[in-house]
Amino acid sequence: MDSSTDDPSTDDDGTYSDLEYPNYRQYNVEEDYSEETTDETFLSTERTFDLTLPATHSYLGSNLTELIGRTILEDGIYVNLPLLVKKSVILFPGQTLPMTANDAQTVDMIKTCLENDRTLGVVCLGYGKMVPVGTTAEIYECLYNGPEQSCRLKAIGRQRFKILRVITQGSDKILANVRVLPEITLGPPFFDERLASLNHLRINPKTEEDFKKQERVENLDAVVTPWPAWVYRQYDPFRLSLKIRQRLQFIGNRGSNIPEDPAHLSYWVAQNLLLDDNERIALLNYDCAISRLQREIKYLVEDKIFICSICDSYIGRQSNMFPMSKEGPQGTYCNPTGTIHEIVTLYHARSLTLSPSPPSVEYTWFPGYAWTVAICKHCGAYMGWKFTAVESNLRPKAFWGLTRKSLKSKEK
Ligand SMILES: [Zn+2]
Repeated sequence: MDSSTDDPSTDDDGTYSDLEYPNYRQYNVEEDYSEETTDETFLSTERTFDLTLPATHSYLGSNLTELIGRTILEDGIYVNLPLLVKKSVILFPGQTLPMTANDAQTVDMIKTCLENDRTLGVVCLGYGKMVPVGTTAEIYECLYNGPEQSCRLKAIGRQRFKILRVITQGSDKILANVRVLPEITLGPPFFDERLASLNHLRINPKTEEDFKKQERVENLDAVVTPWPAWVYRQYDPFRLSLKIRQRLQFIGNRGSNIPEDPAHLSYWVAQNLLLDDNERIALLNYDCAISRLQREIKYLVEDKIFICSICDSYIGRQSNMFPMSKEGPQGTYCNPTGTIHEIVTLYHARSLTLSPSPPSVEYTWFPGYAWTVAICKHCGAYMGWKFTAVESNLRPKAFWGLTRKSLKSKEK
């Protein structure tokens, strides 16, 4: 995928438009939040694209070697990890990280990982400094052809860690002494204080109705504790998960798997909602799913709008997100030059202009779709790509893949 921004001259309908003042903001953001017409039927019934394909990252080639086994580091253990430090790359446990490495430093780091436990640390570079919390990434497929060759790999986020000390090895290798952070799992609150006499009334709640039924029992349980039951309910991981899943139902209905387990869900939401780096880092800092879910639920209170991160032009909204991958509406992909892009897929977007270059299928992240570079119509910022189906029977016929860093989300 090419991220160059050629001279734009077509708009999002493929028709030519004038770009007289590409660097001048002519657009009043406040005026234009009108809802676009969306076609749910088209999305739900006419999809023919196989949503399992993007997660295979087939653009990396079919000659990667599968690596067997899994490395689990003990909670609290101190280890030395080679670090991959990238701007705006914040990996969460469970998230897939595809990579192409061309520079000798990264290729050498990967070689060291492959010789050991195939684990590296992924750390975000923010404001010129490394964020002190990161996530281990375990390489599960790799093509390594030697020190002078480029290397391709797929890794998966495993465990969070805190950097204790950075050790530089030679002039170009970054190694750090880290402590693996625990994932604290808490069950429903005041579990130990529950009244045994009420056990026959307890059910394992799955639906909102079930939770409502349980409220009466919880109110009785809470009588012997210092706080009323509604306080405890705010810390119930299953209740929080249900609320979040209800608010994300529109994504589930559009074909994505949304985890049920509170910890998995909390990481899934962190990965799939359009959040800026600071918010993502804040979520990565929590040791417990309850805190992450409580913070995440605030982002889902209303349908956020997405604006250009440079000029604030209205681009789309949260409810325009739809998954083009089983993993969710936001995914991580890489291009041949090694750039890692996090992109959100939207079925509708505005204020975008397409590059005049013809659509290309080279290195496409969505097999069967050609990409065209998309830029902001108002400020000229590079936003991502429009993907168009190359086969007539492929549905959706077109969609947008916009980079996380090109967008900001805000309340209406
Ligand atoms: Zn803009």
